[in-house]
Amino acid sequence: MKPHILVVEDNAFSRELLCDWLELQGFTVDSATSLSEALAAVRRCEPAAVLLDVQLGGEDGLSVAAWLRLDKARQHIPVIAVTAHAMISEQERILKAGCNACISKPVDFRLLLEKLNRWLTVAGVMNHNARTEGPIPEQPFCGTKEMPCRTKC
Ligand code: MN
Repeated sequence: MKPHILVVEDNAFSRELLCDWLELQGFTVDSATSLSEALAAVRRCEPAAVLLDVQLGGEDGLSVAAWLRLDKARQHIPVIAVTAHAMISEQERILKAGCNACISKPVDFRLLLEKLNRWLTVAGVMNHNARTEGPIPEQPFCGTKEMPCRTKC
């Protein structure tokens, strides 16, 4: 059984596309369209990973990542951000907010699957307290005072 993924995306077309594609890959899926829905869905379905649209209408999707990183029970959950902006500064902002990786729209599904598998593996390894043989994270959490440092960096 593949892991459960939460898709947070306010645009109905993008949301359905992502959900359908994830289900085709064998994942089970839940979705949310706003910050409040996303936080409720995390508590309800305890996803193995979150796909996070950075722009949720007028809301900042990155708040979901920041909230997860402060939640001791859930700070290991991988968050992959999806952004309309491909600039380096945007990627830095996203990673600094606590996301593990980001991909730009339009979504390259092969790349998304690669990142999803990579981060699910890392999360699984971390859960078993044996990270030594796991893949090296592309984004260690070491950014800010608010965010705990989880790797040597
Ligand atoms: Mn959006």
